[in-house]
Parts: sequence; C-alpha cells; structure tokens
Amino acid sequence: MKQSIFHQNLQWLNCGLNALFDFVYPGGCLFCGSRLSGWNPLCASCWKNLAGGMTFRVCLGGEDFHYINPPLYFDFAVACWNYQPGIETLIHRIKYQGGRRLARYVGRLAGTAMTSVMSPLSDTVIVAVPLHPVRERERGYNQSRLLAQGLSESLSLPVESNWLIRHKNTQTQTRLDAGERQYNVENGFSLKKKTGLPGRRVLLVDDVITTGATLNSCARTLKEAGVKNIMGFSLARPQTGPGQKGIFA
Ligand SMILES: [Zn+2]
Repeated sequence: MKQSIFHQNLQWLNCGLNALFDFVYPGGCLFCGSRLSGWNPLCASCWKNLAGGMTFRVCLGGEDFHYINPPLYFDFAVACWNYQPGIETLIHRIKYQGGRRLARYVGRLAGTAMTSVMSPLSDTVIVAVPLHPVRERERGYNQSRLLAQGLSESLSLPVESNWLIRHKNTQTQTRLDAGERQYNVENGFSLKKKTGLPGRRVLLVDDVITTGATLNSCARTLKEAGVKNIMGFSLARPQTGPGQKGIFA
C-alpha cells in the first residue's frame, strides 16, 4: 500500500514536472521539437548541427565595414555564423520569443567553441551593447547581456554591465539603409561609470552585426574613456555584406 502511494506521488510529481517543462519549452527542442532530457533549450544533436556551421568569421576594417565612416574604434569583430535560415530562427527566438535561457545557453556554447579556434582571451572584460531602458523594459531583458553572461561562464571572464548606457531610444533599424543606421546610433551611448576603463581590453557583445555602426558607436565611447583594445563579438553577420535590408531589428 505504502509503495503504491509512493508511486502515485511519484507519478504526480512527474506529471507536474512535465507540465512545468512543457510550459517553459512547449515545443521541446527549438529545431526538431524532440522532447528534451534536461533543461537545455536545444537537443544535443541540433546543437551539434548548428555548431558544425560555425565559421567564426573575422571582420577587419576596410571592405568588411565599408559602410562605416572611419575611423573604426574597434580592432576587429568575430561573427560565429553567417546569417542563414537556421541562425535566423535562433536569433528570432532569442530576441522576440522570450529566449532568455536560450541566449545564455548559446552564449556559453559559442564561447566554448570559440576557445577551440582562437587564442585564449586574458585580462579582458566582457561588455554587452546596451538596449535603451525603455526598449529593455518592453522586451523584459537585453539579449546581448544574456549572451555576455553565457560567454563569461565559458571564457571565465568578468562581465561589466555598468560602463555603458544607451541614451538614445532609436527606432528599429529594420528598414533603414546603411547611412540611416549610422546616423541612428551616432552618439547614442554614454558612460555610466567613468573609472576603471583606461588601459582595459574589452570583448564587446552584440547579437548581430550588420553595418557595424552600433558596435562602432559603443566602441568610440569606450575608447574615448581610455579603453585600449576592443574586439567585437556577435552571433551572426550577413555573408553578402550589410546591404540586405529588412532582416534585422
Ligand atoms: Zn533538436
């Protein structure tokens, strides 16, 4: 009798956990829909497929950022993937479908993958491109900060969230051309804290890089405060350049 009550309770507990799980990830794995055995938002097989497509494209100055009016204030930037359908789904989920856990998870795994292709970063601080406070309130989170936290866990580097603030609540960049994007973000950032920056190295994180104008505007603010080196990091960048309109927000 005792055993049957125990099993009954176990069943209820199991049902409760499954319901909670389905509430958190109603569709199972984001890509294949399979039931997940843990709390990760993607199954191991789908992550393996995504990771297989990582290119870690290094974008330098010149042609890579020809839409930006010089100078370039960051040293270079890395994009984990070229922007393509599977990655578009991933980023859309992160940005618009409450993908907090997904953002952090992808940041952590991307950081781990990055260590296998790049020299270790040392003495570096991770800074996320901030959202305007109004936009962050609407969304409920800053996806770039969650990516930064994931990166911090795998790279063992600290996150500094008190350096930059976005004071210009710009309109969505989706329908803007390169020139408008640059104007939109110029002088859009300021320093929240003015000490401790000189001589530092920064990994500046944004979810997507298009023209690079947002990254450059943040980098300018940091450089003018004395930061020495800045490397940009993003999940994705269009392969054919920033001329594609309408795919980013
Ligand atoms: Zn899957």
